[in-house]
Amino acid sequence: MKFNTKTIHGGQKHDAAYGSVMPPIYQTTTYAQKSPGNHKGYEYSRTHNPTRHALEQSFASLENGNFGLAFGSGLAAIDAVLKLLKPGDEVISTNDLYGGTYRLFTKIYEDFGIKFHFIGMGNVDKIENYISEKTKLIWVETPTNPMMNIIDIKAVSEISKKYSLLLAVDNTFATPYLQQPLDLGADIVMHSATKYLGGHSDVVMGALVVRDKELAEKLYFVQNASGAICGPQDAFLVLRGIKTLHVRMQRHCENGKAVAEFLMSHPKIENVYWPGFENHPNHDIAKSQMKDFGGMVSFTTKGNNYEEAIKIVENLKIFTLAESLGGVESLAGHPASMTHASIPKEEREKTGVVDSLIRLSVGIEDKEDLIADLKQAID
Ligand SMILES: *Cc1c(COP(=O)(O)O)cnc(C)c1O
Repeated sequence: MKFNTKTIHGGQKHDAAYGSVMPPIYQTTTYAQKSPGNHKGYEYSRTHNPTRHALEQSFASLENGNFGLAFGSGLAAIDAVLKLLKPGDEVISTNDLYGGTYRLFTKIYEDFGIKFHFIGMGNVDKIENYISEKTKLIWVETPTNPMMNIIDIKAVSEISKKYSLLLAVDNTFATPYLQQPLDLGADIVMHSATKYLGGHSDVVMGALVVRDKELAEKLYFVQNASGAICGPQDAFLVLRGIKTLHVRMQRHCENGKAVAEFLMSHPKIENVYWPGFENHPNHDIAKSQMKDFGGMVSFTTKGNNYEEAIKIVENLKIFTLAESLGGVESLAGHPASMTHASIPKEEREKTGVVDSLIRLSVGIEDKEDLIADLKQAID
């Protein structure tokens, strides 16, 4: 099955009871048993739920994996991966990271005795300097949020395999439409399904996909034992969202390109971060590991003025000033005061999250309207 067919049919069966084409929302906590242990595969909805199961099958199919897991949020999915570790273990992570992931690592898991090394992975050779016998996991986000750096997943996976480490990739920005990390050698793919997979800004959800059965069993154990699952209504909504992922992504990419090119041509704009530009430092890797360049674009203004950036985002009319991304509607954010406010100023500036940086999640509206909106707000 090719990708566009998978978004609609991947891992799905029509409902056994009445042939309903969409899986019913099994809004139930428990399942009748004929005699103790004699049931139809479902006992209690923290452990299994048919609607969630249909979604988990879809996740696995999209990422060319064998096992999918759905969680109550993207962070709950990341949390489940970290629960594979023990005190004393070490993690090597990209330094330009989603703020909530950085917070989970440093404010929760450091207290449990796990050590994190945050490094730039533009040059993967640096990774080996941080590997010791304590290292267990490499955590990669690509494209990174919000600087749109690209990390060579295949090159990192060669290192993770050489040292028998787990490699997890946060594939939220790219989506499986653009990039399939398991095919490039990753062990775990993670998504904030809140973003493009759900696609309609109405559900908070997380996903993991793996190929290895033993690893899947460990993660299912954590999912059930810790219990950060999603409900059946949310599972239904994300399953519906996924059915249009490929058509939405096509338009996100087309509009993202148009917006990036417009910004590049505007005299008040200093830098535009979008991996489709030939002078983007990792353009060649982006071109080889991604099908297209996505709908996320960040930029800074000349003079790097905090107040001016605030004014631009306030003046936008079609772009909504809001956290989050990946929905059909265009959103704008100011990372320094919003998504990345939890990262100390000194730390965030090292990775380029300066005061005037604005991040756009370019939606699927008409691109002419989006460009006109940006133009009036910047002018
Ligand atoms: C939003 C986001 C997360 C966290 O997901 P939630 O669903 O908000 O918990 C993790 N990584 C990236 C790249 C994100 O954009």
